[in-house]
Amino acid sequence: MSAGIAQRYRDLRDALDEELRTCGREPGSVRIVGVAKRQPAEAVAAAVAAGMHDVAENYLQEAQRTFPLLPAVRKHFVGHLQTNKAKAIAALFDVVQSVDRAEAGLALSKAAQQLGKELPVLLQLNISPVERFGCPPEEAERLAETLRMQPGLRLDGVMAIGPLTQDRERVFRAFELAAKTLGRVGGSTLSIGMSGDWREAVRAGSTMVRIGEALFGARG
Ligand SMILES: *Cc1c(COP(=O)(O)O)cnc(C)c1O
Repeated sequence: MSAGIAQRYRDLRDALDEELRTCGREPGSVRIVGVAKRQPAEAVAAAVAAGMHDVAENYLQEAQRTFPLLPAVRKHFVGHLQTNKAKAIAALFDVVQSVDRAEAGLALSKAAQQLGKELPVLLQLNISPVERFGCPPEEAERLAETLRMQPGLRLDGVMAIGPLTQDRERVFRAFELAAKTLGRVGGSTLSIGMSGDWREAVRAGSTMVRIGEALFGARG
């Protein structure tokens, strides 16, 4: 299985670079974050051995089980942020991509200060009618201002989940909205694109794709 995963990682890297060249962007300018939720730790470890440096988890408990089984990686939290778990999340993760409201930012800021660390965060945008979480794009600037005032946090950009639709043009337009909103929020990270829509995301300017099933297979 491991050999298969390593090959899939390399194939994805190549396909990403090819898409980047097609859009006139620099190959290697998109970071691959492997999404480990409900995947075997060996599969994730195989991708790390093949050169992947970033791993994301949606659930704190699962992350507490999986991360000790992996070599050193940059750990991203991409799940819904419950304020009562902010302390444990700030302690375990290197980046929190899912800050979608002031309350979550305040809880993380408090936790980061207690831990004496500066936590890079992304503002999660809602660009899809079926997504439950995320900040509406028209409120993003205001949330960004609030987050920038919080000690212990460093706002690096935005994250968004694309709309669930087969209409590729609609997916692309939603990602364009995320890219435009990044321009108003500030920062350099645009975390958009998953297994089914990373090509549209790269065309819209993604600098970070979050890939689960296309790397590790169907989730258990
Ligand atoms: C599950 C998940 C992903 C990865 O989804 P795939 O379709 O398996 O690539 C990316 N981002 C977030 C926030 C997720 O919850």
